[in-house]
Amino acid sequence: MNEDVRTKGNFIHQIIDEDNATGKYDGKVQTRFPPEPNGYLHIGHAKSICLNFSTAEKYGGVCNLRYDDTNPEKEDEEYVKAIQEDIKWLGFKWGHVFWASDYFDTMYDVAVDLIKQGKAFVDDQSAEEISRTRGTLTEPGIDSPYRDRSIEENLRLFEEMRDGKYADGEKCLRAKISMASPNMNMRDPVIYRIVHATHHNTGDKWCIYPMYDFAHPLEDAIEGVTHSICTLEFEDHRPIYDWSIDEVGWWDPRPQQIEFARLNITNMVMSKRYLKAFVDEGKVDGWDDPRMPTIAGIRRRGYTPEAIRDFCDRIGVAKANSTVEVELLEHCIREDLQEKVESRNVIFDPIKVVITNYPEGQTEEMVMENNRNVPEMGERTVPFSRELYIDGADFMEVPAKKYFRLYPGNEVRFKGAYFLTCQESIRDEEGNIVELHCTYDPETRSGSGFEGRKVKGTIHWVDAATAVKIKVRELDYLMVENEEGEQVFNENSMVVKECYAEPLLAEAKAGDRFQFFRHGYYIADEKLTTDDEKVFNSIVGLKSSYKTGK
Ligand code: ATP
Ligand code: MG
Repeated sequence: MNEDVRTKGNFIHQIIDEDNATGKYDGKVQTRFPPEPNGYLHIGHAKSICLNFSTAEKYGGVCNLRYDDTNPEKEDEEYVKAIQEDIKWLGFKWGHVFWASDYFDTMYDVAVDLIKQGKAFVDDQSAEEISRTRGTLTEPGIDSPYRDRSIEENLRLFEEMRDGKYADGEKCLRAKISMASPNMNMRDPVIYRIVHATHHNTGDKWCIYPMYDFAHPLEDAIEGVTHSICTLEFEDHRPIYDWSIDEVGWWDPRPQQIEFARLNITNMVMSKRYLKAFVDEGKVDGWDDPRMPTIAGIRRRGYTPEAIRDFCDRIGVAKANSTVEVELLEHCIREDLQEKVESRNVIFDPIKVVITNYPEGQTEEMVMENNRNVPEMGERTVPFSRELYIDGADFMEVPAKKYFRLYPGNEVRFKGAYFLTCQESIRDEEGNIVELHCTYDPETRSGSGFEGRKVKGTIHWVDAATAVKIKVRELDYLMVENEEGEQVFNENSMVVKECYAEPLLAEAKAGDRFQFFRHGYYIADEKLTTDDEKVFNSIVGLKSSYKTGK
């Protein structure tokens, strides 16, 4: 599927190709990304952003950013800013920034127009009554007792609604279509409601606000959108989309709504409402917590815009809902980083190694390649002396089957240095291993031309005297599958570890990414990393079989 998508384009591009062939919009292609500023964008939005912006780009058209701010109660300036930052970070440029609320006057005029044509009426029923009389999929709904009000009365009442004469919910404006329509969304849908709330843009000018199904098509039409791309759950709303524009008759040809499947990813919640709850309940440290599937969170986690765009490209544009495995996202970032970042040695759960036959006070500089796949990325040196640290997982007192790393009596290669043999483990009074006494073979120095005996294990190390302490946050997803196969909140999504790193990491700057050799990819956290303290977030693990014991 993926290769097809990249080479042949997607079904949306086929629709545009046909429109261009028939001259429907005179070759014009205009899309929009229309977020409601009621939360931070998540990776599902990234899919929509990539699709809308790259479609416009492909056809030499324009994609605008439009804030769908028709819901005064939930919107916030912080979100407005964050949305722009995220789109820019992904690498896209909008034509204009538009606000749906700038069209409130036009929308009001359109509503009045509909009333004048006998196509809308003011209903006094409560929201609950309206929903109760809507009927079911198999039965028609019931006409409102207010459906046959005269045009004059409707005009007067609608004006009074606008002027603030009624309380929230006391009245509403409904389209007069048919309560028998097989499509529930066409059963005299509510198109304006009363909300006495201050709007971030229009202040207290309005106390009536258009409903999404009515406002959205008008926003598209006013701006001259040609192809209005939205997610599949709006397929059943397409008739009301078309109706809202056609009945007014101001716009021809009208924009066309095209639906595609929304992106779902395993282990990720893709809904601003739920994500906001995580933030409000303090389950995470803000919208940009690196465990959040928000674009801000993923960015702080160390993902690159290239990886996200590649991911959106690979999943393609589907007409049926499905859930993408999070492993694909991980694959994309791993692939992007593997030839971009340098490697560093970092020790987790350290055990000290003392090389009993290594001269005291001596230090050697060992040469390490920065990226084994990219020789042009050069080399660095790291100090090596009598006392080192190795990963706790690289030693076993009693080796498991096929364990080739350090255990008493076994010889392994210390990467870029010498062969060492473990002679004994030293324990404290409580029986915990505190250090390993090893011997080294001076003849086996790496790079000395030594091509002697084979050893099965190679492990990494850092020099104890010059090691730098760093904090590493091992991050997991916020959702995990429980035993019943349900996705539940992961209470252990962050494990903070103190690690020892080679000296160069003391120079790491916020936002620097590295491969921690044999561990995975990490980024110096953009908020927590200072000159004195280095805090790293895990980006993604290595694909290697490291954890399984080879
Ligand atoms: P949420 O339910 O998370 O609040 P939303 O759809 O209400 O999402 P909007 O701000 O209204 O969020 O969405 C802006 C655009 O992003 C819409 O065109 C919407 O269809 C699209 N979008 C939102 N979520 C996804 C997703 N998971 N996959 C693809 N597109 C999405
Ligand atoms: Mg929404």
